[in-house]
Amino acid sequence: MLRVYKFGGASIQDANAIRHMGELLAEKAPRPSAMVASAMGKTTNALEALLQAARQDDETLYRRRLAAICDDHLAVAEALFGPESAVADELKQRLAELDNAHHAHRDTPFPFHYDQTVGIGELLSTTLVAAWLNEIGVATRWCDARELIITDDRHQAANIDWVATRERIASLAQANDEVLLTQGFIGATADGVMTTLGREGSDFSAAILAEALDADELTIWKDVPGLFNADPRRFTNARQIARLSFAEALEQTWHGAKVIHPRTLAPLQRRGIPLTVRSFLEPEAAPSIIGPELGEGDTLPACMLRDDQLLLEVSPRDGSFVDEALMAEVLTRFAEAGLHANLIDVEALRLRLAVNHQPERLSPALEALEEHFSVARQEDLVLLTVRHADDALLDALEGGRTRVAEQRNATTAQRLYRAAECPDSWRLPE
Ligand code: ASP
Ligand code: MG
Repeated sequence: MLRVYKFGGASIQDANAIRHMGELLAEKAPRPSAMVASAMGKTTNALEALLQAARQDDETLYRRRLAAICDDHLAVAEALFGPESAVADELKQRLAELDNAHHAHRDTPFPFHYDQTVGIGELLSTTLVAAWLNEIGVATRWCDARELIITDDRHQAANIDWVATRERIASLAQANDEVLLTQGFIGATADGVMTTLGREGSDFSAAILAEALDADELTIWKDVPGLFNADPRRFTNARQIARLSFAEALEQTWHGAKVIHPRTLAPLQRRGIPLTVRSFLEPEAAPSIIGPELGEGDTLPACMLRDDQLLLEVSPRDGSFVDEALMAEVLTRFAEAGLHANLIDVEALRLRLAVNHQPERLSPALEALEEHFSVARQEDLVLLTVRHADDALLDALEGGRTRVAEQRNATTAQRLYRAAECPDSWRLPE
């Protein structure tokens, strides 16, 4: 049985978490062939903040932030391996390289500089984890994802070169029973320049590895026991889903369900590799499984919320109908600005779109539209998307609130509400 595991940042956030993860692998879970790990805890955010200080030429802030990242990692190395260790030296070496490179990268485009900086979090975490697993007798081989995941040079959102990646990963195949441990989130161009796959991209890395190895299953270990039919932090009575199909999981992640990265599913679906989501805190608890077959999650009502939405109402200035050509013009401007419409609703004289409120992307799109269209906007909205709901359930969820916009098809209903009218905690009607 060829298993691939993925451990997220929370599962390795400090020395105790790494010990716990080691115990899980040594005693409680079947040994995987390969593993992917994220950066420790909130390291990726800390590296983003470091980059910001570097780009602003704020040397004091930059030094302070670099020292904090360094201290965090060295403290874990010390707790696990004692005051002086080869691991600590290796971490220092990687951070020194990062520091040296900053000066060289200062005038490079932001996305390139981002990848060279932020991608290091996974190199640090996996160095610690590999050493710890070997220490406790789980034979582990550290592999550099930059030699395995080959991408184009679209920094911060790199596209996978599947042929090259499969070739590289296949060449890893080995006879002994070491666990291969590599980094999530990062890859490299064919020339070896580090790239990243987008925030929360480690799930996707694990799926790429599983696909290329033709694994029998991928398990993502999280701090929640599985997938729910609504975000349990927002819905008091969210229910865990035992099984659901790839197609349904894809729809739910597309509409904003957060537990797994949306790009994760396609490579698994291609080869029919089931994805298990399980809790590293309660490894015995029943997991959720996404696979080729239908499951209860394919019919159970499921809710997704998107906060901080903006509704744009776009009307042709000359009063003409919103025909295909005009729609294409509007959507092209959105695509160029990297904006995604979470809801689209067309009428004769206007097109309405709900988007995430991202002023830096919105301004160029609106400027480009100004000549032919007038645009009205409403801010501070919440988009509720519900799958497999009937009218009674939708109305009960709505609770008499004003509906600002709506879009519906046979399986999915979307309703936009004013944030001020929405509850802090929601309830799914039973
Ligand atoms: N460390 C990266 C992030 O926090 C990737 C991941 O965790 O999936 O976005
Ligand atoms: Mg993470």
